[in-house]
Order: sequence, then C-alpha cells, then structure tokens
Amino acid sequence: MQHLVRACYVGAAGYSYAKSAEDVAQEHGIDQVARLASNENPHPPSPAAIEAASRALRAVNRYPDVRASPLIEALHRHHGDYQFVTGAGMDGVIETVIRTLIEPGETVVVSTPTFSFYGLATATYGARVVKVPRREDFSVDIATFIEASRGAKLAFLCSPNNPTGNSVPPDTVEEILEEMDGVLFLDNAYIEFSDIDYRPLMRRHENLILGRTMSKVFALAGLRVGYAFVPAWLEPFYNRAATPFALNSVSLAAAIGALADHDLVREACNHVRLWRDRFLEEIPFRTFPSDANFVMIDVSPHTGDEAMERLAAGGVLVRSCTSFPGLDNHYIRVSIGENWENERFLEVIRDL
Ligand SMILES: *Cc1c(COP(=O)(O)O)cnc(C)c1O
Repeated sequence: MQHLVRACYVGAAGYSYAKSAEDVAQEHGIDQVARLASNENPHPPSPAAIEAASRALRAVNRYPDVRASPLIEALHRHHGDYQFVTGAGMDGVIETVIRTLIEPGETVVVSTPTFSFYGLATATYGARVVKVPRREDFSVDIATFIEASRGAKLAFLCSPNNPTGNSVPPDTVEEILEEMDGVLFLDNAYIEFSDIDYRPLMRRHENLILGRTMSKVFALAGLRVGYAFVPAWLEPFYNRAATPFALNSVSLAAAIGALADHDLVREACNHVRLWRDRFLEEIPFRTFPSDANFVMIDVSPHTGDEAMERLAAGGVLVRSCTSFPGLDNHYIRVSIGENWENERFLEVIRDL
C-alpha cells in the first residue's frame, strides 16, 4: 500500500534525530551517558513549572484555552506589549507560519547550513526551498540572501544559528527587512544565551517574526512549547491556519511557571557562558565562536560520523553535523551539559 504515501515522504529521509542515549548506553555497556546532542538544558525545569503542570493535570478532562490566552498574558508580562502566537514547540509555530503564507509551488528561502526543519516543513506544503549558502566563516552573505528573497513570501534565518553558533547583527537583519518583499522568520531558539536583542525591530517592521522556544534555556523540551513575536496583521490568519488546541493545557501551565523563574534562566546562562569559554579554550580541534549553548567543532581528519561514534564509545553523545544541509561531513556539535558531562567530553575528545 506504500504507493498511497506522498512522494515527499517516500523519497526523503525526514528529520534526522540524534542517536538515543539508551542505545549508546546499551551498545557500549555504559551506565551513564553524557547527553550532549540536543542542546537541552541539562538541569531540571523550574519547580514553579512542575507545580503549575501538576495542577493543570487535574483538569485535563477539559480542552485547553483556545488561544492559549494565559500564556499570551504571561508573555506580555515577560516581554512587554507585543503580538504573540503559540504552538506545539517552535517547530509547530514554523509549520503553522508556512501553512498560513505558502501555496504549493511557491518559494521559501533558507540560509544554510542551518536547522533542517524549515526545509522539511516547506517541502510538506509542496513549496520549493531555495538555499542560500553562508560564507566560509558562516556569516550571512547579505546581498545574495536579499537577491534570493526578492519575490519570495517567506525566508528563514537562524540567529544564533544552529549548528554554527554565530549570530547575525541586528543592523544586518534590518537591512534584509528593508529589502525583502516577504516575511523574515528569525529563529531565536538560543537568543537567551546571547547578548543580542532583536525585539526593537518588531516596532519598526511589519515583515518580521521572531521564533522562540521553551525547549532550550527554559528546560521544557519534553512539553513542546513554542511561541513567536508576530506582526499584528498576521495574528488572526495564523490562528485560522493553526491546528485546534495545538498547545495542551499541561504544557501551557508549565510554560507560564517557567517564564516567571528568572533565577533559573540567569543561572543556566552563567553556566553556559563559563563552559562555552572552557570548551573554546580546551577542545584540541578548530572550534567556532558561539552565542548559544553549544559549540561546533571541525573534527577533520575525522568525519563527523566517525567522531560521534568514537565519542559515544567513550560515553559521550554528541551530534554529527553531516545531516545539516549545506555543511561538509567533518563537523560535530556539542551541547553544554552538566559539569560531569562536560568534563567527560573534554577527556574523550582529547583522545580522539
Ligand atoms: C531546538 C530548535 C527549535 C525547535 O524547538 P522546539 O520548540 O523544541 O520545537 C527551533 N529552531 C532551532 C534552531 C532549534 O535548535
């Protein structure tokens, strides 16, 4: 019956997941694997988030709030007066934005190498991805990006970028916004780990979306909460296109609790900054400066897959970057984890 399946799922591999820690533990007979492959916060979520989620659990016989209004209110308290939409992870937001704007056959621009889901989600809607390669140092080639974006309704730019770790300066983003005909989706999954604030651009441009997630610094990856700053004109149409009740009531409650825990975020960022500096200093391969909670490493003469396997044998799970579109096969990405995980990673990479 496979002939019934759409060609975009038969011909392509789909999202490429990191190897599971359970598989690595079993394969190599290791008790505790250092999980440095998915850029999660290695520490548990805020007690306030757990408390709120437990309370919400008692009322799950009811559907959640249609527009996630309590979370939108919490976002207003957190960020100020902006327009927000929510989704099941930022991935859910990305998919809904594409669904809102893009007709089959239209073009979506993606700056590469980057997070693969923009391209996968675009293909799902029968649209065409135009990849604009970054320069050798992974900075964005603005002129080419603008040129490719002319006439396109939607372009994706990730900053800080996954997996390279570098950011696009706000004035460069502004230059792009001024020249583009369509909307720029600026993925800010790692923004809390950087010193950059793109929010003022929302006041001056009506073609900017800032994608945010509760999965990284806020430590709620398992609950799938994402949101975005959107221009006012887009919000009602996004909500028409969205899957009904995409954000469940337990996740919604946890997100509100997590947003209010400023201490947790501050501590997580301090931890990341300390270890990011140590990683850049002590990793005996070429590394790339990072504004995020991970570092990309050029492991040549090894391939990324070889390095990943060798590190896994030493009990450390990292991400091989070979599945990232537009990147050569000799890079890995390592997340900043707990102290013991980071220490073990530095030990095993020295022996590579
Ligand atoms: C992790 C990540 C996301 C997805 O976050 P979810 O909210 O967990 O779906 C989006 N963009 C980038 C660049 C990421 O690394």
